[in-house]
Amino acid sequence: MKHYNIPVFISHFGCPNSCVFCNQKKITGIETDVTTDELESIIEDYLKTLPKESKKEVAFFGGTFTGISVDLQKSYLGVVKKYIDQGKIDGIRLSTRPDYISHEILFLLKEYGVTTIELGVQSLDADVLKLSGRGYNPEKVFEASSMIKEAGISLGIQLMPGLPGSTNEKDFISAKKVVGIGPDMVRIYPTLVINGTQMEKMYYEGSFVPMTLREAVDRVVPIYAIFEKSGINIIRVGLQPSDDIREEGVIVDGPFHPAFRELVEGEIYSVFLKKKQAEDGDLDIKANEKNISKIVGNKGINRKTFGKNFKISIDNSLSLKEISVNGNLITREEILNGVI
Ligand code: SF4
Repeated sequence: MKHYNIPVFISHFGCPNSCVFCNQKKITGIETDVTTDELESIIEDYLKTLPKESKKEVAFFGGTFTGISVDLQKSYLGVVKKYIDQGKIDGIRLSTRPDYISHEILFLLKEYGVTTIELGVQSLDADVLKLSGRGYNPEKVFEASSMIKEAGISLGIQLMPGLPGSTNEKDFISAKKVVGIGPDMVRIYPTLVINGTQMEKMYYEGSFVPMTLREAVDRVVPIYAIFEKSGINIIRVGLQPSDDIREEGVIVDGPFHPAFRELVEGEIYSVFLKKKQAEDGDLDIKANEKNISKIVGNKGINRKTFGKNFKISIDNSLSLKEISVNGNLITREEILNGVI
């Protein structure tokens, strides 16, 4: 059954933290807080357009949901619970910080039907967390993650490769530690310099240099590959190209690309095909039609790179987990192994 999120953005509400990369309002695009009446009308509007036969979750994004006052959390959750009890909504998803999780909080969330918690982990390197002003250490992440899993709530983890103090190795180790935690899903957001943030000052002072797009793709490729190999659902790679983020001057610098995931997918195939070309010369590729655009790459980059040697055709007898190159069946796992 198709799954839909009904997104509700709660701005910097109740958050006393100052993460260097955060300008909450710029990211969510909503300057004001959401009232319970507004929440109800957002849900009603979405319910009018979403198919009846689908799984629907109300998703509180944008802030530290469990950092707001318990009364307000209860008011928001109470509105959604009414729809859950009527069978119109299937669950609640929310994002928060690892240090805003406790047994009491989880008890409350479960009572109101919260099904998924996404933790803004960002890194599992103690120095990177410190330099980014996150205000917790990696142990807190492990603790919160196991509490969420023990409570029977699905766990999502967000990582931000490219934060201050990070390196390819540190970000990859963070990702490996995330695999060890075993979340149900991950989001990967390469770090961008957003205006009005502490990071913007660091950028102009020269104490922070963001990754280039090329560096970010190279850094994310192995991270993406180990998540996929571990069977973790990668629900997003790169910030959504929403209108507010595309406004002139919002992104000061950094590896933003509206199809970042496609770049990563294309690069995974490119690494493999380069090796194959060195061995065989020609590249006669067959793949399921759903894989063709990933292999060809964003704007046909791989077709251009490999030029005349690159031939690709549809063969729907192949599964999504395999391709054929020069008559040899290659599994997705082999392709992923090539970039880790
Ligand atoms: S990223 Fe989250 S925790 Fe950090 S300052 Fe922004 S809202 Fe607060």
